[in-house]
Amino acid sequence: MPMSEGFKQRLFKALPEIAAHYGTPFHIYDEQGIRETGEHLKQVFSGIDGFREYFAVKALPNKRILEIMKEMGFGFDCSSIPELIMSRELNAGLEEIMFTSNNTSDEEFAFAEQGEGCILNLDDISLIDKVPNFPELICFRYNPGPRRTGNVIIGNPVEAKYGVSHEQVVEAYRKAQQRGATRFGLHTMVASNELDYSYMVETSRMVLSLAELVKSELDIEFEFVNIGGGFGIPYQPEQSALDIDTMAQEITALFDAFKAEHGFVPRMYMESGRFMTGPHGCLVTKAINFKDTYRQYVGVDACMSALMRPALYEAYHHIDVVGKQDQAADTTYDVVGSLCENNDKFAVQRQLPKIDEGDLLAIHDSGAHGHAMGFQYNGRLRPQELLLRSNGTVELIRRAETEADYFATQNFTSNEFSPAK
Ligand SMILES: *Cc1c(COP(=O)(O)O)cnc(C)c1O
Repeated sequence: MPMSEGFKQRLFKALPEIAAHYGTPFHIYDEQGIRETGEHLKQVFSGIDGFREYFAVKALPNKRILEIMKEMGFGFDCSSIPELIMSRELNAGLEEIMFTSNNTSDEEFAFAEQGEGCILNLDDISLIDKVPNFPELICFRYNPGPRRTGNVIIGNPVEAKYGVSHEQVVEAYRKAQQRGATRFGLHTMVASNELDYSYMVETSRMVLSLAELVKSELDIEFEFVNIGGGFGIPYQPEQSALDIDTMAQEITALFDAFKAEHGFVPRMYMESGRFMTGPHGCLVTKAINFKDTYRQYVGVDACMSALMRPALYEAYHHIDVVGKQDQAADTTYDVVGSLCENNDKFAVQRQLPKIDEGDLLAIHDSGAHGHAMGFQYNGRLRPQELLLRSNGTVELIRRAETEADYFATQNFTSNEFSPAK
């Protein structure tokens, strides 16, 4: 079931007031739900020493949210300079930041080693020589290629641009040792939005057996293995949630067996984004126009600049018409924004209760890869973000973009150049 009943109950009763106070549209996130998910995750993996979640910053890059993650003891998974800046502003130390970039630039490498540094997670063997000051602690992203099948969002590993191939992986660690590395980690990410827990168990098995292989070749004892993000959430009402309890039991058993056999065991890391915050956010938007042509349209005051997933992946996001949850869903609508693109639709041919002008629509599961993916095409600006605090108060955690933001990159000192040739 998308969006928890708890979040709905906390939110919907106050929503007309919140909408009147802040205006629409907005994404609103549920602190209590985020904390419950985080605590549950820690609890199920408490049997693995040193377990740590590195929240994938790109899913919900808001400092207020990252603060909550930090309070729960989580680190940050970053892949760009702005994400590193945000994590460092929260005083995340070296081992609390995983820098999992790909196609990394010199500028990014230089930035990564500033301050306390971070755990460098190299995406390719060719990057070893490009790291300016090779760190003591290094990690590689492994791509198993034909050894695993991927899924729709991340694609088949053979076609995925990420990671070091199976044939290169031992050589990558050897070269890292030659450059002076003495502490090692191993990373992979082979699925996205995966709801089958056994896939994650297989990923854990895969990284542990690779750890065994590298140990036998190079005598490296990995300090950690990171199984990546990709933990799925049920966007569709009929889907059931990822069974993290069983998943954790089976993964813990693999780690115990590894320890019994080898006398040491790496710590287990993961870097979920969607699972941590996806269901704990929704996009609230108001119905402003109705159109009855070849189809019935309801026009809302948000558009795809606030939530790209339906247009990008034809993703399903459940919708509640606030206050009408108990009414029969007897009208078929396309729920649309005002961007001049026909895929600017939050829902296509969706059965909903009859909507009236001014009704609030809650578009579920916008808490990850929602606001963050937005853009400004067509002069459509990104909306504000709010946090529903555990104590029931509401806090503005990002203001809406303004026209001044939109024009900011066109206001600069003129710079003309006449090439000689
Ligand atoms: C996007 C990404 C994640 C988070 O993915 P989710 O599907 O949100 O869990 C984690 N790690 C890496 C390297 C990523 O690119």
